[in-house]
Amino acid sequence: MKIPAVFLVAAVTATGAVAQVEKPMGALRPDQVKYRALYKELVETNTTLSEGSCTQAAQKIAAHLKEAGFPASDVTLFSAPDHPREGGVAAVLHGTSTTLKPILLLGHLDVVEAKRADWTRDPFKLVEENNYFYARGTADMKAMSAAWFDLMMRFKQQNYHPKRSIKMALTCGEETTYAFNGANWLAKNRPDLVSAQFALNEGGGGETDGHGNLQHQTIQVGEKAVQNFRIETVNPGGHSSIPIRDNAIYELADALAKVRNYEFPVKFTDTTRIYFAKAGAQRHDEIGKAMARLVKNPGDAAAAAIASKDRINHSLLRTTCVATLLDGGHANNALPQRAGANINCRIFPGETAAATQAALAAAINDPKVKITLVPPVRPIAIPPSLDPKVMGPAEALTAKYYPGVPLIPAMSTGATDGIFLEAIGIPTYGVPGDWSDPDGNGAHGLNERQSVRAVYFGRDFWTDLVKAYANQD
Ligand SMILES: [Zn+2]
Repeated sequence: MKIPAVFLVAAVTATGAVAQVEKPMGALRPDQVKYRALYKELVETNTTLSEGSCTQAAQKIAAHLKEAGFPASDVTLFSAPDHPREGGVAAVLHGTSTTLKPILLLGHLDVVEAKRADWTRDPFKLVEENNYFYARGTADMKAMSAAWFDLMMRFKQQNYHPKRSIKMALTCGEETTYAFNGANWLAKNRPDLVSAQFALNEGGGGETDGHGNLQHQTIQVGEKAVQNFRIETVNPGGHSSIPIRDNAIYELADALAKVRNYEFPVKFTDTTRIYFAKAGAQRHDEIGKAMARLVKNPGDAAAAAIASKDRINHSLLRTTCVATLLDGGHANNALPQRAGANINCRIFPGETAAATQAALAAAINDPKVKITLVPPVRPIAIPPSLDPKVMGPAEALTAKYYPGVPLIPAMSTGATDGIFLEAIGIPTYGVPGDWSDPDGNGAHGLNERQSVRAVYFGRDFWTDLVKAYANQD
């Protein structure tokens, strides 16, 4: 999932310097030629849930790591017996320190479904055209996953020994709610393969103005937790020619109207406080002013109402719950015996599913309406801290690669696998370095693409970032 962080910063109007980043790539260095082949192989290995195989992709990666000199004992292929095609791969490059904790490179191998008939080009062939790479996964997130194992291979071949060990986990199931989730499986079953000071993941990155100018870079620090609830009403029903007011569909409709009108209370994390201050100062409208006022006084209800006119702000400020699916009745000429709806909640960091359910029940305030939690139950979102040891190198490299372009900490309104690692005490950051366009690059949609320069610049940036973190005391 990459889109939410992109949407998140769409409201920021850049006032500082921007960097013109789009132009033809020119000749590749030999290391870039090798990386391109790895990226192409990964993109062209179909890893959709329906027909693809993450296990196959993981096996190819494990083979490359071993060719680069990793002993078999430092490369682990894993899968669950009932999900044979949804495997992943973990690896470790040992550091020199026996006391410093490792850092973890996290990525997902799976991609969202893509139908050839709907696409302009074959979604599982890497096509380079008009300074873009086209194919499913080019943006979300095979460029980064390939960069992770490519840098592990290069470090090994260069006999490079950082202070901290560098672990890597490339997993399956990030894109599909009910699929086997490799990151969750590792956190629960093989924490030894992922335990780290912190993890680096997708979810950050820059955004252009759509005309090749990079406006800002973001580092994702925290996300909300997804949780679904079902609300349901039942009734004895009967013949529709003799209706009464007591009706399952009307009761459900009344309950849904109450859910629509209920607003969860305003909250901030350290990340969103900085985001609201920075992003509020950059936009010169009443929403920007209200954002700044709200940071100073989170109890300012008028400021909250104005700031929340921006739908992204609205979601960043609170838990949100919205009706997303509906079912009910069984015949045109019968009074309904049952009606139900799915309520999709995005729970603010630190809040629980139980408290969210209780808030919904209080808002509906009707004992005839049954509210149940729909599995899977995601962990409570725990936001990572704005650790200077994480922020410092990210800021320094943003200034080096993209002089004058600001780095903004951002909380995602969407979800990544970071939530599973944070649940076992591994803060997870969505790193800056590459960039995308304001339309989201077709990630999860049609004709997914990624800027050729963003792929190669991102790879160089991430290599420097990993070295900086791995050599920190
Ligand atoms: Zn993703």
